[in-house]
Amino acid sequence: MDQPSGGISLEIVGVSKRFLARGRMVEALAPVDLQVKAGELICLLGPSGCGKSTLLSIIAGLEPPSGGLIRAGGRKVQGPGIDRVLLFQEAALFPWLDVQHNVAFGLRQAGMPEAERMRMAREYLELVHLSGFEHSYVHQLSGGMRQRVALARALVLNPAVLLMDEPFGALDALTRDKLQIELETIWAATGKTILFVTHNVREAVALGDRVLVFSPRPGRIIQEFSITLPRPRSLEHHQTIDQAREILAVLHAGQRPDEEANDEW
Ligand code: ADP
Ligand code: MG
Repeated sequence: MDQPSGGISLEIVGVSKRFLARGRMVEALAPVDLQVKAGELICLLGPSGCGKSTLLSIIAGLEPPSGGLIRAGGRKVQGPGIDRVLLFQEAALFPWLDVQHNVAFGLRQAGMPEAERMRMAREYLELVHLSGFEHSYVHQLSGGMRQRVALARALVLNPAVLLMDEPFGALDALTRDKLQIELETIWAATGKTILFVTHNVREAVALGDRVLVFSPRPGRIIQEFSITLPRPRSLEHHQTIDQAREILAVLHAGQRPDEEANDEW
């Protein structure tokens, strides 16, 4: 495989976001400050509607911030770029293309010749353990396989930053555990910078170098946890469970009383 390049740093400097919705101003993000080192894996936790997806969209350059700025690798973000790729819970693949052509799609946009595109697509499908499914169509795949395709499609572009928005949220527990381990392996091998949004506190502890807990809207970081447990981390290990319990308490404490915490840990 062509050697993938590693991650870049992210600086989030006083980033805030307001939306005008049905004539009302909604403050989605309070000013957020965060420094992410190149190659760091950061997990974001917080109640629904606290602005996690909004923050990822701003970092991806899909939304401008209302205030503040983002620097990626020292350069101000002014729009989307292939150094930063966003992955969602729904894999958003093209149903009319087979798996291999889905993965190669972005390379075509980049003007790479067909044979080279197909070679790279096959390599990245191997990386996500989907060899043999090159010619399958999206409707023939399970949810976990679709997320693998989406991951291959992102990685083949060799982005420095992966912005992952609850990517495993809709998967069954077993598939999710497997994909977590594979993501960690790929991250360790490539040194990508990863921002990973999840509702699952244990998942955050298992994956993150740091776990950031956000307040309800307007979202701001209420606490940051450095996770120093040795890798790979087991979801079932008592240290993982203890750390998750501590974080969950902070998540609960930050919650408004009328909102239900997500106890899925
Ligand atoms: P999270 O991902 O943490 O659940 P979001 O970032 O999706 O939260 O949303 C934060 C808040 O901003 C919510 O109240 C949401 O309704 C609002 N919001 C998000 N996008 C828009 C938009 N395009 N227009 C208006 N309001 C929005
Ligand atoms: Mg969201």
